Amino acid sequence: MRSPEQRRGDPETSEVLALRGVRKSFGEHVVLRDVDLTVEPGECVVLIGASGSGKSTLLRCVNLLEVVDDGVITFEGRDITDPRVDGDEVRSRMGMVFQAYNLFPHLDVIGNVTLALRLVHGVDAEEARSRGLAMLDRVGLAARAEARPDDLSGGQQQRVAIARALVANPRLMLLDEVTSALDPELVGEVLDLLTELKGEGVTMLLNTHEMGFARDVADQVCFLHDGRIHERGTPQQVIGEPREERTRAFLSRIR
Ligand code: ADP
Ligand code: MG
Repeated sequence: MRSPEQRRGDPETSEVLALRGVRKSFGEHVVLRDVDLTVEPGECVVLIGASGSGKSTLLRCVNLLEVVDDGVITFEGRDITDPRVDGDEVRSRMGMVFQAYNLFPHLDVIGNVTLALRLVHGVDAEEARSRGLAMLDRVGLAARAEARPDDLSGGQQQRVAIARALVANPRLMLLDEVTSALDPELVGEVLDLLTELKGEGVTMLLNTHEMGFARDVADQVCFLHDGRIHERGTPQQVIGEPREERTRAFLSRIR
């Protein structure tokens, strides 16, 4: 049972996101056992770990696409695991980007970027268009506003998906292996964009197998193994000088 204090959340805390004792199972299969994690404003926290270690599930729990079995997740100081919380309202303050960019094929680029602004945030068409174009400019795609997703490269489509997630000024960006589906020559443009966003103070929680990126950009790296954060620290520590045998074994496999 959660105490009333935990339910209310602590408005004094500065962190954007905090997970405390989060557990998640699918049937008998325990995927997250006892996960504690905080993300401070402007931080980039990178989850690493083998396929199946629970990275996507963790992001999906944060975004309330999965219901946790136990533990508390606070977002901007509020317990979002409280069943009374409106998931759509919480999601409207987070931006999520997936491995497969999931753009709407029947809408042009600007239509994709502005859809939620108009339908979820109630922004009128003219203002949505001007904000959408500004965001496309920020990701280097203002000239392709009227293009269809199919006419863009995978890297460009993923940059549109990032623009779509960012346009409503979310407090937290969740990025689930956003470069894994890209041809190798297109990975760099997306990682460069994420590096720029970090420089602009965008708060990010993401998972990736791009260790060079994690090393350069992450404030905190968390290695997931067996449902727990098995090792965490700065990228210099976790990737550069891992203490745990499991972390070393994982890193040697993906290099
Ligand atoms: P990762 O993103 O690290 O590869 P996932 O979070 O996708 O790992 O998956 C962790 C484990 O949970 C895997 O064993 C996966 O098969 C299982 N899993 C994920 N989603 C579901 C689901 N909806 N139902 C049942 N099992 C699931
Ligand atoms: Mg995954």
